[in-house]
Amino acid sequence: MRNLFKRTMSKKKWAEAEAESKLWVFNCECGHEFSIWDVGGMRYKARGNPVKVVRCPKCGVKKGRKLRKKEMSE
Ligand SMILES: [Zn+2]
Repeated sequence: MRNLFKRTMSKKKWAEAEAESKLWVFNCECGHEFSIWDVGGMRYKARGNPVKVVRCPKCGVKKGRKLRKKEMSE
C-alpha cells in the first residue's frame, strides 16, 4: 500500500516537473521557440534566467542561450 502511494506521489511530482519544464523556453534566432524539456532537460522550482548551451532542434545551431520562463497566458 505504501509503495503504491509513493509511486502515485512521484508520478504527480514528475507531472508537475514536466509541466513546469515546458514553460522554460529558449528563443532561437531562426524564430524557433523550444523548451528545456524538448532538449532533454528539466527545470523545476527554479528562478532566474540562466544561459545554457543548447542546440536548436530546428536549425541545429548550438550556442549559449538565455532561458526564460513563459507566463501561463502566453
Ligand atoms: Zn534555430
